[in-house]
Amino acid sequence: MHYQVLIVIFLLKTVKIIVVKRDTELDEAKKIADSILEARGKTVFFTGAGVSTESGIPDFRGPQGLWTRISPEIFSLDVFLQDPYDSWIQYIENIYKPVSKAFPNSAHRSIAELEAMGLVEAVITQNIDKLHQKAGSRRVIELHGSYDEVQCTKCNFKGKIDEHVQYVLESNAAPRCRICGSLLKPAVVYFGEPLPERELNEAFVLASSCKVMIVVGTSLTVFPAALIPRAAISSGAELFIINETPTPLDNQAILVIREKAGNFLPEVVEVIKEEVSSERG
Ligand SMILES: [Zn+2]
Repeated sequence: MHYQVLIVIFLLKTVKIIVVKRDTELDEAKKIADSILEARGKTVFFTGAGVSTESGIPDFRGPQGLWTRISPEIFSLDVFLQDPYDSWIQYIENIYKPVSKAFPNSAHRSIAELEAMGLVEAVITQNIDKLHQKAGSRRVIELHGSYDEVQCTKCNFKGKIDEHVQYVLESNAAPRCRICGSLLKPAVVYFGEPLPERELNEAFVLASSCKVMIVVGTSLTVFPAALIPRAAISSGAELFIINETPTPLDNQAILVIREKAGNFLPEVVEVIKEEVSSERG
């Protein structure tokens, strides 16, 4: 008897907590959904490692991150030029192999769905994992390059990485450019390298002309990428932040969501679908 009463009280309390949490989340999802709808296609997403951790790609800087196991120096231009073969092996084992096996999660899929509905102009990402594209996003600006391409260290040559990975593993040497004979490196931005100019410019143009910017899964501490949401704010855009840890721009955001993007963004998509269908109905 006594136990039954306790169980009932416990259940009531649990249910109450769940209900309260659902309501707040729905309110928050509705707020973002309304802003996205009002922006009429002028919404830009700005994403970082946190959007891909649910796909099994570790945040390099996070507590389980790559940089806790190996020194980030390995992925610096200086170290690459000193021992290109060793740097290639480190890249293949620590980045190429795990990233090429990863699949997009519900956060990537939600962003792609909003783009397909004509509500998202572009995704600016600090990620190199191609998961936005794999989820169906079409306009993706990659600020830190892409894991599946190579670039020449001297000329403008760029190409797919797969055949070069094969070459490194089979011939125990770093690959060379077929145009100029110089060293090829993975086309991701290494420490000591500038961000690609064309992508950076495109990102700033998008940021300064969008009406809504939604930051997802980044603590906004890596520069110059972190300047992009600041450019959006100074041009009068509404800023939303979905990130599990605090960011330096939290106090300038309309709303800060401390949630996994993979849980929260599908709710935003649902609310938008409901609102669109009730407008039509
Ligand atoms: Zn070359």
